[in-house]
Amino acid sequence: MLDAVHAAVPPAPDPFIDLMPAAGVKLTPRHYSYLKISEGCNHHCKFCIIPDMRGRLVSRPAHAVLREAEKLVDAGVRELLVISQDTSAYGVDIKHAEKNGHRAHITDLARDLGSLGAWVRLHYVYPYPHVRDLIPLMAEGLVLPYLDIPFQHAHPDTLKRMARPAAAAKTLDEIAAWRAACPGITLRSTFIVGYPGETEAEFRTLLDWMDEAQLDRVGCFKYENVAGARSNALPDHVPDEVKEERWHRFMEKAQAISEAKLAAKVGTRIEVIVDAVDGEGATCRTKADAPEIDGNLFIDEGYEGLAPGDIVTVTVDEAGDYDLWGRRA
Ligand code: SF4
Repeated sequence: MLDAVHAAVPPAPDPFIDLMPAAGVKLTPRHYSYLKISEGCNHHCKFCIIPDMRGRLVSRPAHAVLREAEKLVDAGVRELLVISQDTSAYGVDIKHAEKNGHRAHITDLARDLGSLGAWVRLHYVYPYPHVRDLIPLMAEGLVLPYLDIPFQHAHPDTLKRMARPAAAAKTLDEIAAWRAACPGITLRSTFIVGYPGETEAEFRTLLDWMDEAQLDRVGCFKYENVAGARSNALPDHVPDEVKEERWHRFMEKAQAISEAKLAAKVGTRIEVIVDAVDGEGATCRTKADAPEIDGNLFIDEGYEGLAPGDIVTVTVDEAGDYDLWGRRA
């Protein structure tokens, strides 16, 4: 479809991408590539200095993003990792302008990227209401059923002190709606424990929320002051030993959830992408695993002939806390 569009309306030269070689400059292996869709952020979370460093949201035009993605796919990329500081806000700054037939809105962009034939993985998606519109694209198979969505905390007072934009969102209701629309969806998130003023009761709310939310993948950071962040000046900083203790309690829960979720995959057949092959086996990832941050699926036998970038079906034989083992189906 994009070829037809480009045949009718050749893409205009764009210095933003044309300074790079045809396949772009990539620091990642050839079969996957990061695709930056915007820079900067319009929010003011108190613990974050990105808006001060990078400025307000500046979105790339949709046709330029698509053109880069097409070049990457033509050069052999099998997985596109969409990144930004705030992926769901894509296009807000340019009023979701349409150019060369492509509207700068995350739902439209995700659909267009999904038509290229590569895996498309969305990172740093904010829990705004319109995220619901992305889930059907996942259910359709256009975009990977994977949402990297930074919740940071679950207690409304903590979120308010963080000045998080989605502080009032009913996140558990949203999660239930996403799962209803796309039962196989994998949810990854990051959290901060020991944020200034976090009480034991607030922290317990977060643990209870985790019990309900049953997130598949979780990263957790102990709060630290960052030079220039407004949270530094908040009262009631949490002592280091309390942060440490909360971090362990949180991770224990997150690990138990991950372990149970992975155990449930034993015996199923799933598609994996091969990242590396050596004399010991093939290191792969399922659609539920982003490179460098999530787990792996290892094939120890019958991996001969596989190469990085291959997408194959495996039967899962064994599960650990964060990784899987399997054989070609
Ligand atoms: S944490 Fe994310 S949303 Fe908040 S200000 Fe920083 S970049 Fe923006």
